[in-house]
Amino acid sequence: MSRVYNFSAGPAVLPEPVLKKAAGELLEYRDTGMSVMEMSHRSKAYDDIIQTTEYLLRDLMKIPDNYKVLFLQGGASSQFAMVPMNLMKKSRKADIVNTGTWTKRAIDEIKRYGNCNIIASSEDRNFSYIPKLDSGTFSPDADYFHICTNNTIEGTRYTTYPETGSVPLVADMSSNILSEVVDVSRFGIIFAGAQKNIGPAGLTIVIIREDLIGHAMDITPTMFNYKTHADNKSLYNTPPTYGIYMAKLVFEWLKDLGGVPGMQKINEEKAKVLYDFLDTSSMFKSPIAREDRSLMNIPFTASTKELEARFLAEAATNGFVQLEGHRSVGGMRASIYNAMPIEGVKKLVEFMKKFETANK
Ligand SMILES: *Cc1c(COP(=O)(O)O)cnc(C)c1O
Repeated sequence: MSRVYNFSAGPAVLPEPVLKKAAGELLEYRDTGMSVMEMSHRSKAYDDIIQTTEYLLRDLMKIPDNYKVLFLQGGASSQFAMVPMNLMKKSRKADIVNTGTWTKRAIDEIKRYGNCNIIASSEDRNFSYIPKLDSGTFSPDADYFHICTNNTIEGTRYTTYPETGSVPLVADMSSNILSEVVDVSRFGIIFAGAQKNIGPAGLTIVIIREDLIGHAMDITPTMFNYKTHADNKSLYNTPPTYGIYMAKLVFEWLKDLGGVPGMQKINEEKAKVLYDFLDTSSMFKSPIAREDRSLMNIPFTASTKELEARFLAEAATNGFVQLEGHRSVGGMRASIYNAMPIEGVKKLVEFMKKFETANK
């Protein structure tokens, strides 16, 4: 059995050179005589790993000095609660744009702690686009403004970000962090679960502007307070040590590829291969508004449910796996994160063309 082309939305494909490097170091990391998994998180060797990981991320994303990088657990889903608990201190009001499943989850959490003001929503058309925003409708006194920059399930992404003035912009970047160049200084908080574009599940990365730390509500559990983790350099308790090590290897791989600008170019090329085909095919279609299409998650449909089922089955036997659409939307979805090589996308399109001809 050889490695397949894995289009999973997450946990997702990792770069093969990274997996090989990790395999080579699995039993003994450098001269420590032990696996990274077996190391104290307070050892010299591990300190080196976590510091290098942070340094690499700062370098890749050009993170300004007045931001902290935190390595947490609990997934992006925990951030839906952690953000309001730490930021909703003044008006207890948060603005949010509802663009799908992941912002709905955030809305449910925000409502537990304060007022959630839905500025705009694309639910009227199955979240197939990003709503046009009018900054005149934003709450000037909101404690923060939440967006999901890439909607993993629905397949949309922001190409410009809302101008929120002095209101901190909070971004769930779980599925497109490090896929395109982003000006970190536009954001108060960026958070992301690792299992899409960074490494294995279990690590959650938070990039937070320093002035937003230290104002948590009194009810905030110690582990949900950003200050706890910022003051202790993500070592208040045991961090997900192996996940952080894997992130380091992914960051090194990304740096060698030309960093985020290099990666963005490849991602744009990759997505174009698939969208160009979808726009000319008479069997397969993209339901997403052209200007809002994700570079990372590409949902598509075939003309009938029967064809979709047959396509998924035949794709899998040909080594193109995990192409099922999310259980909430059906159809198909190709997630083509950073680690998916362009050959994988080209070969998938070749296969789709053959399938279309054979099933005319
Ligand atoms: C996957 C995902 C989540 C949920 O992440 P967990 O780590 O499973 O909590 C949240 N937001 C977005 C945009 C995602 O892609």
